[in-house]
Parts: sequence; C-alpha cells; structure tokens
Amino acid sequence: MADPFNFYLIDTVSTNRGFFSENGFGSHHPGLVCNLIKTYMQAVIDKVPKKFSSVEATDVVVYLVPDPKRSVIKANGGSVQMADDDHVLGLTDLNLQICEVYFDRAFQGSPKEVAGAAYHEAAHLKSNMDNSMHSKQAGFFGASPDYNGSPTATNTSFFQNISRQLRQVRRTLPS
Ligand SMILES: [Zn+2]
Repeated sequence: MADPFNFYLIDTVSTNRGFFSENGFGSHHPGLVCNLIKTYMQAVIDKVPKKFSSVEATDVVVYLVPDPKRSVIKANGGSVQMADDDHVLGLTDLNLQICEVYFDRAFQGSPKEVAGAAYHEAAHLKSNMDNSMHSKQAGFFGASPDYNGSPTATNTSFFQNISRQLRQVRRTLPS
C-alpha cells in the first residue's frame, strides 16, 4: 500500500460568499468535484510502482478562487495577465509555484470543468512546464481542453511521470 498522494483543493470562493449561496461552491457539487479529482488521480497512482518517498514534497495544492481579481497568484506579486482571456479557466505561476482555478468561469453547475481545470493546472505545476505542456499533450492537457470527458491514457501516464517530482508546496496564504 503506497502512501497517499495528497491533492489539496483550497476553496477561497467560500471566503468571499456563502458556501450555499447562489454562486457558492456548496451549490455546485463540491463533493462531485472532489470525487472526480480522486478518480483522475487514482488512475495516476495505480501506475506508480513504488511508494512515494516523501508524501509532503510530492503533494500538490490548487487554489479555487472566484475570478482573477481575487487571484492568489496576484496577491503574491504574480501576474494574471494571461487570464484576461475569459476562456482561461485556470493559471499556474511556475516562479511562485502557485496554481489556481477560476470558479466563476467554469460552466455553472459543472463539477467536471472545475475538477478538470484543477487537474490541468496541477500538471503545469508538477511538470514545471508552461504552455509548452500543451503541445506535447492532448485531452485534458491540450491547449483547449474539453473537460466533459476523462483524462486520456497519455494524460495519466504524463501525470504519473511527473507525480514524483518534488515541487515546493506553499503553505501560507496572503492575508
Ligand atoms: Zn495549460
């Protein structure tokens, strides 16, 4: 039995509005989002033959924020200019080692978009690859991913290869 691969989805949407309010995370299937991510990651973990030597160092954190105005990347001094295009569902800053998903841009009531975008941004962080990741991948890791399906076998293999790369996990949020 391998150690768990911790995938943290930190909900900052609910610090801005009520959890069960009209556009709150609670009204849009948070349990389904977590179950989808678990399903996607289980396929990755199933391919990892050995134990993770350091669980903490291989963990991944994705921030769920309402929109780029309330970006965790921006609050830490990064740029969210690439998110000016409102088709962008998430962003990763490789210098800051922060990735985030824009909840209000996901089709309302679509846990698959939120989960897929979180999976996508986590792969940018773990691979330490910017948009160059897209050219080598399709499916959930392509440039215009359709999150209604599932990650492809190639996506799963890619995540398996990067899953043990050590990335710094940010533990503090800006005040
Ligand atoms: Zn991307």
